[in-house]
Amino acid sequence: VATLGVMGGGQLGRMFVQAAQSLGYRTVVLDPDAESPAGAVAHQQIRADYLDPQGLAQLAEACDAITTEFENVPAQALAQLAATRTVAPAGSAVAKCQDRADEKAHFKASGVECAPYAVIRSEADLAAVDASLLPGILKTARMGYDGKGQARVRDRAELAAAFAAMKGVPCVLEQLLPLQLELSVIVARGADGQVVEFPVQQNLHRDGILAVTEVPAPSVPADVQAKARASAARIATELGYVGVLCVEFFLLTDGRLLVNEMAPRPHNSGHYTLDACDITQFEAQVRALACLPLNTPRLHSPVVMLNLLGDLWFDADGEERSPAWAQVLAIPGTHLHLYGKTSARPGRKMGHLNVTAATPELAAAAARQAAVLLGLPTDW
Ligand code: ATP
Ligand code: MG
Ligand code: MG
Repeated sequence: VATLGVMGGGQLGRMFVQAAQSLGYRTVVLDPDAESPAGAVAHQQIRADYLDPQGLAQLAEACDAITTEFENVPAQALAQLAATRTVAPAGSAVAKCQDRADEKAHFKASGVECAPYAVIRSEADLAAVDASLLPGILKTARMGYDGKGQARVRDRAELAAAFAAMKGVPCVLEQLLPLQLELSVIVARGADGQVVEFPVQQNLHRDGILAVTEVPAPSVPADVQAKARASAARIATELGYVGVLCVEFFLLTDGRLLVNEMAPRPHNSGHYTLDACDITQFEAQVRALACLPLNTPRLHSPVVMLNLLGDLWFDADGEERSPAWAQVLAIPGTHLHLYGKTSARPGRKMGHLNVTAATPELAAAAARQAAVLLGLPTDW
């Protein structure tokens, strides 16, 4: 039996492992955490740091091909693995996704428009910022996620203060855009260059964290959807990317589509594929890694995904509780996915609920019913 490995033991690794196992692969996870969600379901977990040469050597020894489930995997670790094994995506592609300046340069090179921006590495760069970029959002070039490492700035004084607060790490200043809504597209690209695109996802964020994904995207015109899919495919192709890539976009109030950022792995906004598509984003990841054929995914059901954050595990007094799963699961079309995390914290991604139905309207209504039972807002 061939063996597939994954760097990282979080929920994305867990769902990769489950997809790989269902296609008959042995699975190995590298993660230092003894209680990692992926380690709990894999055939083997190597408990080592991502940069530990011995752990990496053990992973390479055990596997035929290796992928990653988190975007900040050290590029040098992927390089060590790639010396003897198939690694997809490549360290060079992952490295571009890890740095907003490189990422935006790649979007430009691919002919896909992103927000006007400037790279800020020094006081001199600050002084040279064009006035048109304000008000803006200052983002650390590296390591940001869920809106962390970002500051909204109205003028030069706030910009200077925000850059100082980032302690001088390289940043990108983006123009603050008037967003109509946010969407994303998952693509998978094989080593042979074939690209398949998943349907467009419409995403709602709360406090910088994905809250709700709807497919089909209710408010994205068909021509914009086609453009987003083609842009995502071009971004993957121009990267020489192999694996699953998620590309996030903004639809502006004036109808323009701009690319925001990309993630070199399956994505939270793609979890709807587990119950609504004939191939999931994780199966696509396995197929790309194992050089199996990639079929164009087909949405077989309208779906609404609700992200389940740790907040649901606490009542108003901060006492821990269990969400009302039995009541939620009594609603037809609900599919609960819990990641097996041993402790809940506010904001922590604990699972998601996919709600499928015969029509988008029925899926939305059932998802609202579930949201009410869980105490989630119904603001989408
Ligand atoms: P993720 O968890 O998706 O990786 P992140 O921390 O990398 O998030 P971004 O996706 O860059 O952050 O931004 C987070 C959110 O902030 C976006 O989804 C969007 O709602 C808002 N945002 C980001 N950039 C802009 C912009 N230029 N104009 C307006 N809103 C923006
Ligand atoms: Mg990001
Ligand atoms: Mg984002």
